[in-house]
Amino acid sequence: MARYTGSVCKLCRREKTKLYLKGQKCLTEKCPLERKNYPPGQHGLSRKSKISEYGVQLREKQKIKRTYGVLETQFRNYFEKATRQKGITGENLVRLLETRLDNIVYRLGFAPSRKSARQIVRHRHVLVNDKLVDIPSYTVIPGDVIKVKDQSKNLELIHNSLKRVVDAQFSWLSVNKATLTGTFLQLPERSEIPLNANEQLVVELYSK
Ligand code: SF4
Repeated sequence: MARYTGSVCKLCRREKTKLYLKGQKCLTEKCPLERKNYPPGQHGLSRKSKISEYGVQLREKQKIKRTYGVLETQFRNYFEKATRQKGITGENLVRLLETRLDNIVYRLGFAPSRKSARQIVRHRHVLVNDKLVDIPSYTVIPGDVIKVKDQSKNLELIHNSLKRVVDAQFSWLSVNKATLTGTFLQLPERSEIPLNANEQLVVELYSK
């Protein structure tokens, strides 16, 4: 499957906001956005054109897509699914993205970033309800138990990442650091999800 392979920090600079794509580095002064809070490229600093309504909506969509690391077609599919669900479409969209297995592995603290979580899943280190799942977009549902398989429990990457985890950080997840097991307890409310983006603008964009 196609995926973005360029510099992820450029994506943050393009959106002029931290998308937290690089794990620990994002929390330190090594984050390029701390020094260069303007779009990348030769004219990044000087470009000051007024952004249209469409442009604002587009940027918001890019921000969400890039945060969760999904490409356009997949993102559009999530949106279509969100429109078919009951409730507010924008909130459904964010909730659907949150239920991706790579995102859950990241939120549980088993990986320092979603990109790294995707790799952990693809490299077959993760079990869902005791079954090996190597599909990062796999949808996790309430009650599912996500576990690092026994043969992978010594992975340094996972243990280093877990050091940043604060107990009960997310009300919809429970994590047992000793057994490297987490449970997806319930679907989160939108207000509980730490995502600095306005998903309503995406709904407006796709409704044109
Ligand atoms: Fe974005 Fe993290 Fe890179 Fe900072 S370090 S620009 S937050 S990916």
